Parts: sequence; structure tokens; C-alpha cells
Amino acid sequence: MKVNIPLAVATLLLTLPLAATLQARTSAVKSKSAPRAALVVTSEPEVIVNGSPCLFRVKSRRALRSLSAEWQGRRVIFDFDERDGAWYGFAGVGVDAIAGRSRLTLEALTASGGRFSYVHTVRVELALYRTAALSVAGQYTEPEAETLARIEEEQGQKKEAFANITPYRLWSGNFEAPLDSRTTSEFGTRRTFNRKVQSIHQGLDFRAEIGTPVGAMNSGVVILAREMFYEGGFVVIDHGQGLATLYMHLSEIRVREGDSVEKLQIIGLSGGTGRATAPHLHVGVRWQGVYLDPAVLLALPLP
Ligand SMILES: [Zn+2]
Repeated sequence: MKVNIPLAVATLLLTLPLAATLQARTSAVKSKSAPRAALVVTSEPEVIVNGSPCLFRVKSRRALRSLSAEWQGRRVIFDFDERDGAWYGFAGVGVDAIAGRSRLTLEALTASGGRFSYVHTVRVELALYRTAALSVAGQYTEPEAETLARIEEEQGQKKEAFANITPYRLWSGNFEAPLDSRTTSEFGTRRTFNRKVQSIHQGLDFRAEIGTPVGAMNSGVVILAREMFYEGGFVVIDHGQGLATLYMHLSEIRVREGDSVEKLQIIGLSGGTGRATAPHLHVGVRWQGVYLDPAVLLALPLP
């Protein structure tokens, strides 16, 4: 079969959004070390923007023992799903990522012990995020020396917790909203606190009165459950494959570090502790060190 695509046509294919299948075909042509279309890669969502989580689905002609990938300097870990005979790997793109084409380099180990690699081209589009000005108590923008020491200590605790994320998948099926309420602040908003400190909103805020029960967005293991300066009452759940969800400003914590939790199990009560302008629930989604849009994760149809 002829595999050459004229350059102009190939360029045209790559400039089309929503062309995941065409891109897969193009990358199969480019791949040197693997037989043509050895792997068929699709993603959910089809169009990936900066700040977006995504799930890669890989179908292989040959039986595989393991599959992993390298993407934008991070490792994507795949798990085999027997129900539909496909490999699934969770990943995401940081809000600072540059739009354009990137290479997802897959490394497969076949059932018979052979290895091959395969390159799939992923196109990252640019998302538009808003800006907002907020005011908080002065201690949160100009912390005193004593507080700075506490912040530093807590950064160490977070770093340690995030360094031990489970590689295999603990989550199952769709992620669920932690409480039934409307959202008040979107992910990605560029914020200025007290006209001084600038940051990007790395999560999603839900309107919640103090004392509203908060459920785990999916099954996993609690890796942090403590009071922190910025986060207030803070719970982090490890869902495996490098993915974690974070719950902030809680008035009460009802789980302990090391606990296994089920999807929608109550992990605490919402509040307004830490750096919060008013009581609400802040939810974060973290994958391999980058923060992703929880609203996109909640909308993903997952196996
Ligand atoms: Zn927030």
C-alpha cells in the first residue's frame, strides 16, 4: 500500500482541528520503528487545550504485556481494560503549555517479549482564560516571617505526598462533582490578590455554605488530610496513574492519611478556612505536577 502523503495534504490534515483519526494516520506514516498502524491512538477529549486533562486510548493489533509513553517530558502510564480490549492512560497539559503539535512516544512490550515504539502526534490548542481581581486578608499576600516558615514546611509536606503517587489506576469510571452546587470561579482565571500577588486559579470553585458534605470525586487513597496555611482544611486523594484531586478550605476533615476512599464517600465538610475570600469549596486536579481543569475532567466519559 502506498503510504506517502503529499506534503501540502499532510500540512492541511494537521491544521484541521478535530482530526484525531487523520493525525493518527499521519503519525503511523511517520513511525519508523513500528509496523504501520501497530497501535491506534485516540484521545478524550478529541481537542486538547492547555490546562486540559485527557485520556489516551490505545488499541494494539498484537497482545501487549505493558505500555507506557513519554509526552511533554512526562510519563504516561497505561492500564489494560479487559472489557473493551484497549489500553488507557491518563494525562494532561499544563496551563503554560505552548500550543502546537507534540509527540506522544509510546513504548510497548509485546506478550512474546519484543519491544517496539510508536509515535503519535497530538495537537494542543490554546484555551482562553479570564482575569479577575480579588481581595484577601493582608497576611495572605504579605506573610510574616513566622508564617513563611510554616508555608515552607507545608510545601515540603505536599512535595513528599505528591512524590508517592500510585502508578497503577485506582480510579474507575467517570469523576463526579464533590457536591451538588453551581461553580463560581473557573479554572485558569488569572487573578490579582490585593493588587499585588498574581496567580492563575488552579482549580474550580463550588458555591457551598460552611458544613456542606464533600464527596471524593473518584476512588483512591488519601495522601494528605491536614490543616494548611493557604489551603485551610486540606484533603488530597491519589487516584493512581499520576492523578490526584485536592479539596480546600474545609471546615472539618473526615478522613485520615492512608485511608482508601470510594467514589462520593464523604471526606469532610466545606468551609472558608485558609486563603478564601468567602466560604466555598476549591477543587484541584493534579497530574504529574501540573494542574488541570476539573470541569473538563468531570465531563470526560471514562471507562
Ligand atoms: Zn479556588
